[in-house]
Amino acid sequence: MRVLGIETTCDETAVAVVADRLGGDGGDILSNEVLSQIAQHAAYGGVVPEIAARAHIDVLDRLISRALGHAKIEAKDLDAVAAAAGPGLVGGVLVGLTAGKALALALGKPFVAVNHLEAHALTARLTEALNFPFLALLVSGGHTQLVAVKGVGDYRRLGSTVDDAAGEAFDKVAKMLGLAYPGGPQIEKLALQGEPHRFDFPRPMLGREGADFSLSGLKTAVRLEILKLGTPSEKDVKDLAASFQAAIVDVIVDRVRAGVRLFIERHGAPQGLVIGGGVAANGAIRRALTQFCVESGLRFVSPPANLCSDNGAIIAWAGLERLKCGLTNDLAFAPRPRWPLDAVASDAHHGKA
Ligand code: ATP
Ligand code: MG
Ligand code: FE
Repeated sequence: MRVLGIETTCDETAVAVVADRLGGDGGDILSNEVLSQIAQHAAYGGVVPEIAARAHIDVLDRLISRALGHAKIEAKDLDAVAAAAGPGLVGGVLVGLTAGKALALALGKPFVAVNHLEAHALTARLTEALNFPFLALLVSGGHTQLVAVKGVGDYRRLGSTVDDAAGEAFDKVAKMLGLAYPGGPQIEKLALQGEPHRFDFPRPMLGREGADFSLSGLKTAVRLEILKLGTPSEKDVKDLAASFQAAIVDVIVDRVRAGVRLFIERHGAPQGLVIGGGVAANGAIRRALTQFCVESGLRFVSPPANLCSDNGAIIAWAGLERLKCGLTNDLAFAPRPRWPLDAVASDAHHGKA
C-alpha cells in the first residue's frame, strides 16, 4: 500500500509518500519533502499563526507534486491520502486538511484524518518492527507527554506537562541567552562546551507520584541566574546551557521511569520505549534514555532525528496504519486545533469521521 501524507499543523509544510512492506515489518519512505518556515518566523522569536497559514498555501501544491515525483509514482496509484487534522494552529491545519480531502476526492481514494501526536507515537513502527503495547515519550515545542500506545487508535495518556512543553523551555531559555529561535539545537551545541555542574538548577517533580512534568520552575531558575550574572560572558552562556540541559535530562529520565512504572501497573510490560517530537533529536536526552533503557531491560526505539521532528512521512505512515485497520474518515472531518490523544480512540469509527 502507498499513502501520501500532508503535515501543516505548525511551521513545517511537509508531504511524503510511504509504503508498507510485505510481512508487515516497518515501512519504506518513498519521498519526504519538508519545507521549514523558520526563516519567516525568526524575526518574531516564535511561530506567527497567520504567516504560517499563508506560507503553507504558497508551497503546498508544489510540494505535493514534488513528493509524488520523487516517489516516482502517479497520484492515481496511491491507496489513500492522509492529512494531519490537529492538534495545531487552526489556519495551517485547514490548509493541509483541505488539500488532502480535495486530492482524495479527485482521485476517488480513501481519506484519513491523522492526529499529529498519534503520528509521532507510531513513527517507531515505520522505522522498526515493533509490537503493541509500547510507551511513547512525545517531546516537542507544543507537547510533552507520556502515552501508552496499545494499538492503532488506542492511546492512554499517562502524564503530561502541567506548564511548559520541553521544546518551549529550550526555546525560552535560548531566548534569554540571546540565541535565535528555535533554540533547542543551539543550546545542545553550546552545552557541549559548557560545565553542566556549575549551576545547580532545580529538577521539578523528581520522584513525584504519577508521570506529569513541570518545567516552568526550571526556566525561572535560569532567568534568575542570568539576572544575578548581569551580562553573562561567553563562558557563562555555555555553562548555563549545559547546566539547564543537564537538569531537563534528569527530569525527563525521572518522568520516563515513573511512566514505565505506571504503564506496568495499568497495561502490563511494554514492548519498548519510543521517542518522538523535535526535542527527541537532542543527543544528551537520547544518550540518557539509552542508558536508562539498558539499566531497565527495556527496548529503546529512537527514530532518526529527521523523523522525530515534524515531517510528512510520519503522517503518511499513521494514515497507512489506520487504512490497514479500516479506519478512514469522511470529507466532513473538521480541523481539531485541540485534539488530545486520549480522544482519538472514541473518534475511531470504521469508515466515518
Ligand atoms: P508540535 O508540538 O505540534 O509537534 P513543533 O513544531 O513544536 O510542534 P517539532 O518541530 O517536532 O514540533 O519540534 C520543535 C521543537 O523542538 C522546538 O522547540 C525546538 O527548539 C526543539 N528542538 C529541536 N531540536 C532540538 C535539540 N537538538 N535539542 C532540544 N530541543 C530541540
Ligand atoms: Mg516545527
Ligand atoms: Fe510535532
